[in-house]
This record gives sequence, structure tokens and C-alpha cells, in this order.
Amino acid sequence: MSNNNNVLTLSAPLSGPMLALGSVPDDVFASGALGDGIAIDPLNDCLHAPCDGVIIHVARTGHALTIRAANGAELLMHLGIDTVELGGEGFELLVEHGAQVSDGQALMRFDLDRIARRCKSLVSPIILTNSERFELAPCALKTVKVGEPLMRVSVRSSISAEAAVDNLGVEASASVRITHRGGLHARPAALIRKTAAGFSSQSHLHFAGQSAACDSLIGLMGLGIGEGDEVRVSCHGNDADAALQALVAALSVAISEARQAEAVAAAPHRVSSEAGVLQGVCAAPGLVCGPLIRLSGIELPADTGGHRVNEQLKRLDAALEQVRGEIRNTLALARQRKNAEEEDIFAAHLALLEDPALLGAASASIEQGSAATHAWRDAIQAQCAVLLAVGKPLFAERANDLRDLQQRVLRVLLGEAWHVELPAGAIVSAHELTPSDLLQLSAQQAVGICMAEGGATSHVAILARGKGLPCVVALGTELLDVPQGQRVVLDAANGRLELAPSEARHAQVHQIRDAQQLRRRQQQAQAQLPALTTDGVSIEVAANVASSAEAQVAFENGADGVGLLRTEFLFVDRRTAPDQQEQRQAYQDVLDAMGDKSVIIRTIDVGGDKQLDYLPLPAEANPVLGLRGIRLAQVRPDVLDQQLRALLQVSPLERCRILLPMVSEVDELLQIRQRLDELCAELGLTQRPELGVMIEVPAAALMAEQLARHADFLSIGTNDLSQYTLAMDRDHAGLAARVDALHPALLRLIAQTCAGAATHGRWVGVCGALASDPLATPVLIGLGVSELSVSPLQIGEIKDRVRHLDAAHCRQLSQGLLDLSSAKAVRHACQHHWPLS
Ligand code: PEP
Ligand code: MG
Repeated sequence: MSNNNNVLTLSAPLSGPMLALGSVPDDVFASGALGDGIAIDPLNDCLHAPCDGVIIHVARTGHALTIRAANGAELLMHLGIDTVELGGEGFELLVEHGAQVSDGQALMRFDLDRIARRCKSLVSPIILTNSERFELAPCALKTVKVGEPLMRVSVRSSISAEAAVDNLGVEASASVRITHRGGLHARPAALIRKTAAGFSSQSHLHFAGQSAACDSLIGLMGLGIGEGDEVRVSCHGNDADAALQALVAALSVAISEARQAEAVAAAPHRVSSEAGVLQGVCAAPGLVCGPLIRLSGIELPADTGGHRVNEQLKRLDAALEQVRGEIRNTLALARQRKNAEEEDIFAAHLALLEDPALLGAASASIEQGSAATHAWRDAIQAQCAVLLAVGKPLFAERANDLRDLQQRVLRVLLGEAWHVELPAGAIVSAHELTPSDLLQLSAQQAVGICMAEGGATSHVAILARGKGLPCVVALGTELLDVPQGQRVVLDAANGRLELAPSEARHAQVHQIRDAQQLRRRQQQAQAQLPALTTDGVSIEVAANVASSAEAQVAFENGADGVGLLRTEFLFVDRRTAPDQQEQRQAYQDVLDAMGDKSVIIRTIDVGGDKQLDYLPLPAEANPVLGLRGIRLAQVRPDVLDQQLRALLQVSPLERCRILLPMVSEVDELLQIRQRLDELCAELGLTQRPELGVMIEVPAAALMAEQLARHADFLSIGTNDLSQYTLAMDRDHAGLAARVDALHPALLRLIAQTCAGAATHGRWVGVCGALASDPLATPVLIGLGVSELSVSPLQIGEIKDRVRHLDAAHCRQLSQGLLDLSSAKAVRHACQHHWPLS
């Protein structure tokens, strides 16, 4: 209505009684997670502009609009509750995205009766989505008519002049589809927040008629954005274009461990019909028995009141700072150990602890008279309610991360040390454990974890898998009734908790565990020795690694070398490319971790679904068929050049072998060979490292003989070779069981690769996941593979498998497998010819 620089009076966009936001029958709106505002219960049939401005977002289903006023305030007008579900029925938009509108202009017509009959409520929230920068003047609740003054919006006094100026900068926006598995949950949201924090522009995500500032994790998660949803990103400020580009890239990147977690989560929840057995969902496999010890969280007594606000604010600040310090230490340790999973989880926790929505809510509650303890608990619980209201399991599980922070901060405020005496070999039960609990329990030698709630995608589950700690979640509340100390059996792989195992069952579990441990010890004892088949054929068992820390683990576990160093680890999750010196050092560290063994270093394989913020590649309709792997050299030869220079400077160079990903024709190899020779000459090197080619597209397998003429070795990437041969996405959950590299078509390509390589006396390795599958070991040896690059913890097991095989026998039987009808038939035959004990 009026605009005196920073203060704007808004006119009513609807006619009807006004309601306080807290009375809106929707937890997300009512909690203020989307911003401050009011609501109107409409009695008319048209939504009008509350001020002059630009329409910056229109919900696909036409039920909501966002307008930006000239002073930068953004107002979301959401007609009714849950009206997204009407799919546009009953709404008629009168303006488009980007339209310049004037105060009072009609924006949307709606069929009041039709909507009222089909939706939860007509109450329409009007939300200031950038409440962190603007504030609303309190307004008397009354019945308004369209055009009457509604409320005043002013720039917060704490906004710095610089930020205010930036707000006047350019605006950039784009739409992007979310590829993060499971949608925008905590870790991807933390990535978005981190990316946005690098720019001075104000950035927002807009989805389904709602908006959230990118600096609020909770706001972002509260949008309830699912995988495959299309969202709009808007950036406003001097570096808006750069911010937009970085955010779009971050939003389009899929996160690997989330993917892994989702795969586990796909396990259906089953209800046990067996007496004395609780059935849950496996979060980390393993079979253990022991006393069940229950842990419980902190319960606060009622708040007695009479607190001094300043004192309580200081106490909370100090406690938060202490917990932040502890988390920073955990993060530093995780970084040192190159434990990316732990790092991601605790980085998200740190971001949550700095979340403006959470801290604001806790301070507001203290200012209203609460104790720091109760204010913190209430703020967390309100935000958990927001996440739970989204109604998606992944979001519900993220609420557990908030509860973790609740417990940690409460412990500091109450001066309670986290301490629990666990008897030896305890299986710990709890309603829901938190990531930091799990780290402590694992340090205290707990042998298993059971939770009444939780999901297989939770951070606790990811950590438990990483620590090899058997863990079952979603066992139900009966779990909490089991008497303290009762002896139980946890069969995590099958999601079972046996409450009253017989003595015989106990003995059996011990026997199975002992046998497994003995076998593993025997395999480990032999792991440092070379692996020879019974008829004396030597098979090199190397490791796939992604960092020097993993190389160290591989070396300790007996790896004969590194068969694949995926160098992407150096390039992802950062804002600028590593320079030549940093790359050289990272490769040198891997070489140094491997004693005198050789290390195969694969040149960068980004593109496809792995995008880098600082290396924008053209958008592609089919990224896995686009500029990925060695094809990157086509568009960014400088990137490959720099990597080759770094590789040529490691020492001793004869221990370094270079591997090229995604090669599909001989010319690609010849070009890189030539470039490598030029760089060697430039650096005055007389010796050049061995150069190998990955066989991961059918064209390369079919051309193996020609490639082997110019390559020093071939390494088969069965993950991509399966994807491209079978025309099945390697990450497709619904096809997961069929993307099997033991398919006879793959075996034929492997056989052809080995035959082609043999013509020129070259050796062939396998570095895809098939190499780690003991059922496949005899087939690969039989087809002529002489190196298997496996996951570091499986080296002993695969070497042991090799030692029990006769290579001639493998050769003889493998040929017959090429004629079988399916991967399943091949698996069946392998089990028959070379049973796994
Ligand atoms: C493969 O494709 O089998 C392979 C080892 O490469 P990546 O899994 O890194 O694509
Ligand atoms: Mg590959």
C-alpha cells in the first residue's frame, strides 16, 4: 500500500477474519518455520496483491503465489491448507511468474465452495518468507476487507548496511530437479546451506507454494522436498548469478551414502508372528548374543520459573558453544581419519546448532521466562514437530539428529556427564539412539544395538554399518519392556531380536560367531602372502581406495597394491579445484601408504551424475551417456593436463600406473599417450608410467585387442560395463537385482577382453564390484583375469578363495557359463561348481 523506504504497509489480499499464525491448522505454518505472518479465513473468491511488486513464485497447482515488494520483502500467500492436493482444481491464476503487479490487482480466482468441500481448511496463511531480514509490526486481529490495511513490514534494524545494499543487487532464479535420494533431508540441506553461505546474495528455495531461506536447515527441510521434485532457486544480491550456479549444481548432485542408506531402507518392515521374537528392520548386519541394557534420555522436571533472562541466555550460549566445540573436535578427527560419513553427519549437526530458526526459538522462549534447559528442549521439540509433520520417513529420522543435539546441550546445561557402565558384550537398547551415543557405545565395546524406533536410513544406522556394529531399528516399544540385563540374541541381518533364546540357541550363536571369527582370523593371517591357485597361477589381489587413509587400511589388510584409486575424492565437495601441488601430494600419500606396491591411479571420472561446482558442464539430457570420464578432456583439456602433470611428479614413478576411465575408442588412448609423452619431455623425464584403459563400455570390450596393442594393461569396470551392456541404470532400485555382472553377456565381453589382451601379452584386472564377489572369483580366473581389485576389508577373503581354486578347472568350466540363459543361471552354476562354504 505505502512504501516509505523500509516500511511497507500491506493491504489485505482477501476478505475475512484474521487469525494469528499459531491458530493455523497446520504445524508447519503454525510453528513459524516458514516465516512470520498471519492468516485470513477467506469469505470472498479472489486473491489480490497486497502491495506493488513482482510475482516471484507461482505454485504449479495454482494454490499459492509469492510476491516480492520493492523493499525486498517476500510474501507467500497460500490459499487454504493442503490445497496442493487438489492439483489445481478450483483455482484460476490471473498472473504469471515474473509479472509486475500493482497493489490491489486481482491475482487468483478460486471456487470457495469446491475447495472448502475438498480440502482440510480454507484458512490462508500470508507469510513473510524472509523474516530473517524483515519484521512484521503486530496487528490487531479483526475482520478485514480486500484493500484495507493489514500489517506493516519493516527491514530489521540488525541487517547491516552492506546486506541491505546487496539486497538491491541483481536477481537470478532457475528451476532444478532434486536428484538427492530421498529428497532434501539434513545432509543435502546442509550442503545447500554451506554453498549459499559462500555468497553475499540472499538465496531461497521455493517449492509447492512455500519458500525457505537457504541459510536455514530447518526451513529447507520443512519444505518437504522429495526426490524428483522440481524446485525454484532464487538468489538476490551482487553475486546472484554465481550463487545461483553453485546452488543449482549442489542441488543436482546425488549423495552417495544417502543412496546406500536408501537401498538398505528398502528392506520391508515385517511383523513377527514368532513368540519371544521382536521383528524390526536391519540397519547393520551381524549375529550376536549378550545382556540387553536399556539407555534412557534426560527427562526435565517442570520449570519452576523466576529466571533472569540474561543469565539464562548466557548459560544457553555457553552450553551451545561447548557442544559446538565438541562437535568440531569430532569433525576434525573424522577428517583426519578421512571418514566422510562421520564428517557429513557431524557437519550437519554443527549446521543445525547454528540454525537461526532453532536459536531464535530458544532465545524467544527464554525471553518469555523459560529456563535455558526448557527453552532448548521446547525449541528442539517444536522443530521436530515441523519435520515430523512433513510426513516422510527420512524427515522423521532427521528429527533424531535434533534430539541428539537436545540431549547433548541438556547434558552440558545440567552438568551431567554422559556415563553408562556397560557390562562386557552388552547389546544396548533404547527408544532411539543418537549418533553421538552410538560413537560412545562403540567405544565402550557394545556388541549390538536395538532401537524401538528409528529407520535404516538414519545417521545412527550409517555409523553402525561403518563400525560393523550389528543394529536393528523399528523393533517397537515392547523393546523397552524387556527386563534390564536379560540375555538375548540379536540376529541383525534378519531384523530379529530373540528375547528368550534357549541354551542351545546361545551355544549355536557362539559357535557360528566363533567359526566366522576363526575363519576371518585364518584369512587375515594369510592375507599378507601372495594368492596362488592350487595349480600355481598367481592372482594379484589389490584394493579399490579413495584416499591415503583407505590405502593404509588396504596395506594393513594385505593388498598386493591399489587396483583403483578413484581420484574424484580430491575434486568433490569443494568450491575450487585442487591445484597441481595438492594433487601431487595426495597421490604421493597414497603411494607412500602402500610400501613398495604399485598403485593404479584413475584420472578424474566426473560428469554423469558427479558434478563439480567449479567445473560447470553443459546440462545434458542423458548425463551417463554424456561428457563423463575421459570425454571431459574434450571440453576441459586443462583439467586432465594438470592431473597428468601432478601424476608425473610422484616418486618412484615406476610404482604409479595411470588408468583412463570411459574409453570407447583407440584414438582417445592414442591422444592421451601422446600428451603424456609431451609432458614427460617437458618435465625432462626419461621414464613414463604405465598407461591402462578401463573396459567399462561395450565398445571398449569389443575393441580390447586394438586397445591392448597400445595400452600397458586393461582393467574391467564391471559396474559401468553392466549398466551399458544391459541398458539398466546401475543405481535403479527397481532393477538392482538384475544389474548383475554375472550376466552371460558380460562374461562374453570379459572373455573377449582377456583374449584381446593376451594377443599382445597384456594383463587384465577387474576393479568393478564383481571382483569383490567370491562367487565370481573362479569365473574371472577362468576367463583369464589375473588381478582382482576389491574392497580393502575383503582382501583376506578373496585371497583365501583363490587359494582353494584350480585355475585349469576354472578355465574349463567358465566357457560353458557363456551359453547360459541369465545371470541367475550363472550364479546357480557357480554355486554348484565352486560352492561357497
Ligand atoms: C566401474 O564402473 O566398474 C568402476 C570401477 O568405476 P566406477 O564405479 O567408479 O564408475
Ligand atoms: Mg565406472
